[in-house]
Amino acid sequence: MDVYVDKPKCTGCEHCKDVCPVNVFDIIKIEQDVNTDHAPEEMKFKGQHDPATFAKFSTANDGHTHFKDKSSGARGSDCILCQACLIQCEGECIHIFDDSGNTYKSIYQ
Ligand code: SF4
Ligand code: SF4
Repeated sequence: MDVYVDKPKCTGCEHCKDVCPVNVFDIIKIEQDVNTDHAPEEMKFKGQHDPATFAKFSTANDGHTHFKDKSSGARGSDCILCQACLIQCEGECIHIFDDSGNTYKSIYQ
């Protein structure tokens, strides 16, 4: 099992961390190295957020902070594929791969 986050689309909302039963996600200060998972090069954070995701959520007032100074990193080997994070990820940026080669991507509910 592997899990990674498309970092430019991650808003830092922490929904993933709130719902994951096995603590796959770490919320990491952006000035630290947030590219600790296996995300491909184009999904690493290089100082720029995805413009469309930023426009959609930067002013959202839902009790969470967005684009402040955080991003989510993932430690995928513990994932039990409950899929809770996939429907809670507002950035639709979580990617999960199971051991049979199936892929799962987030679709915000
Ligand atoms: S699918 Fe995996 S990473 Fe996502 S909430 Fe469930 S256990 Fe955690
Ligand atoms: S739920 Fe998605 S957008 Fe929010 S912190 Fe987690 S990975 Fe980032």
